[in-house]
Amino acid sequence: MSVSTIARRRHRVVIIGSGFGGLFAAKHLKRADVDVTLIAKTTHHLFQPLLYQVATGILSVGEIAPATRMILRKQKNAEVLLGDVVGIDLTNKTVTSKLMDWERVTPFDSLIVAAGAQQSYFGNDHFEAFAPGMKTVDDALELRGRILGAFEAAEVTTSQAERERRLTFVVVGAGPTGVEVVGQIAELAHRTLEGAFRTIDPSEARVILIEAAPAVLPPMGPKLGLKAQRRLEKMGVEVMLNTMVTNVDYMGLTVKEKDGTERRIDCACKVWSAGVQASPLGRIIAEQSDGTECDRAGRVIVEPDLTVKGHPAVFVIGDLMNVPGVPGQAQGAIQGAVYATKHIKSGLKGEDPATRKPFKYLDKGSMATISRFNAVCQVGKLEFSGFLAWLAWLGLHLYYLVGGRNRLIAVISWFVTFLGRGRGQMAITERWVFARRAMDQVQEQQTPKAIG
Ligand SMILES: Cc1cc2nc3c(=O)[nH]c(=O)nc-3n(C[C@H](O)[C@H](O)[C@H](O)COP(=O)(O)OP(=O)(O)OC[C@H]3O[C@@H](n4cnc5c(N)ncnc54)[C@H](O)[C@@H]3O)c2cc1C
Repeated sequence: MSVSTIARRRHRVVIIGSGFGGLFAAKHLKRADVDVTLIAKTTHHLFQPLLYQVATGILSVGEIAPATRMILRKQKNAEVLLGDVVGIDLTNKTVTSKLMDWERVTPFDSLIVAAGAQQSYFGNDHFEAFAPGMKTVDDALELRGRILGAFEAAEVTTSQAERERRLTFVVVGAGPTGVEVVGQIAELAHRTLEGAFRTIDPSEARVILIEAAPAVLPPMGPKLGLKAQRRLEKMGVEVMLNTMVTNVDYMGLTVKEKDGTERRIDCACKVWSAGVQASPLGRIIAEQSDGTECDRAGRVIVEPDLTVKGHPAVFVIGDLMNVPGVPGQAQGAIQGAVYATKHIKSGLKGEDPATRKPFKYLDKGSMATISRFNAVCQVGKLEFSGFLAWLAWLGLHLYYLVGGRNRLIAVISWFVTFLGRGRGQMAITERWVFARRAMDQVQEQQTPKAIG
């Protein structure tokens, strides 16, 4: 027998995803006697809560999306693999990922799946081309191009109707992301771009927030929701509640009000922040378990120890898991990562999975910024808003941004934007705006046509 086969093999942990769940899981295994392989389809760890600041020209991509490989470069027991996970085999304990034409099969002893969620269009996927969501770096850059590009087009057109269409911005969904992005579009129009155009007045832009529920920020309760709504209205945002979007096309969108009235809003720039759909990897895992199911959004209804039935070494965490009372927020993913890695480590010491205490979520609250110096914040029963809430938002986001350099640059950028008028990241390119359509066309060309 060769020496290499006698040598003890270390426990192999495969982590899928480099978001909050995946990255925190890898970091919490730093001192463990394991080999970690982190596989993700993006090269970076994305700080999603600040995507809207990339979309509106405040921060650059690098500040919110540091390279995962660089974050983990000193962690000797961890390797980072770029690849789209296309298969998970729970029986043979392997993960199959693809990068271009290369396929790689990675074996595991323990698996942590933190593949997150994507935007949901509630079955109307054709809306996406006209109303991008905000989940990825590409989304944020495309939206920056569309938002600033709309002002550029309005400056050039000689048609009054087209100018009005270009200067109408619609954000669909009044959750934290919708509120934050609509607030920033209003600030761009009223503050940042003041005096920068010659034939249009950017402050004449119509900025609209559409929500199907009867309130803004529904999960934060009526008091904070109303505060956020009043603040947005003061900034010139039209808030349309009880309003459903029934169609989206190039020229605008159609909405249906509570009384059934349908009407058109002509607008060039639309942002979708209305729903989430979990990664399809959730269903792949659930189908191989001993009866674990997924909810309507595709999230895995995990066991109390965040595993799937019959597979105590397979953890599903973050936005991909469904645990009652745990919101789809960064804290849910981070705490899930800490819990899963703790039990992988105690498993190495012989812990029986049957004796695991259930995962307990500690609610640290939620918050949303509305404009500069103004936010709403909820911690347990405590609710507050205004400048104090904004300071809390600032501190928390700085704390969780990865890397000292990123924190420093973010502080400088915020100083420039919030105290002054400037925004350092106003560059846009045609390719950012049209890349999605070009990719769709390429895919269409590559799909073999059915012979009729
Ligand atoms: C715009 C926006 C604003 C937000 N604001 C806040 C906020 O203010 N506060 C808050 O607490 N939360 C906020 N959230 C939610 C928070 O970002 C998520 O809850 C959190 O990111 C979930 O972490 P995760 O690790 O489960 O998933 P994600 O962070 O989404 O990471 C998923 C990872 O999986 C990878 N992946 C997916 N599929 C595959 C595959 N097939 N193969 C390989 N890799 C794959 C992705 O590349 C990514 O690295 C916001 C989210 C968004 C989109």
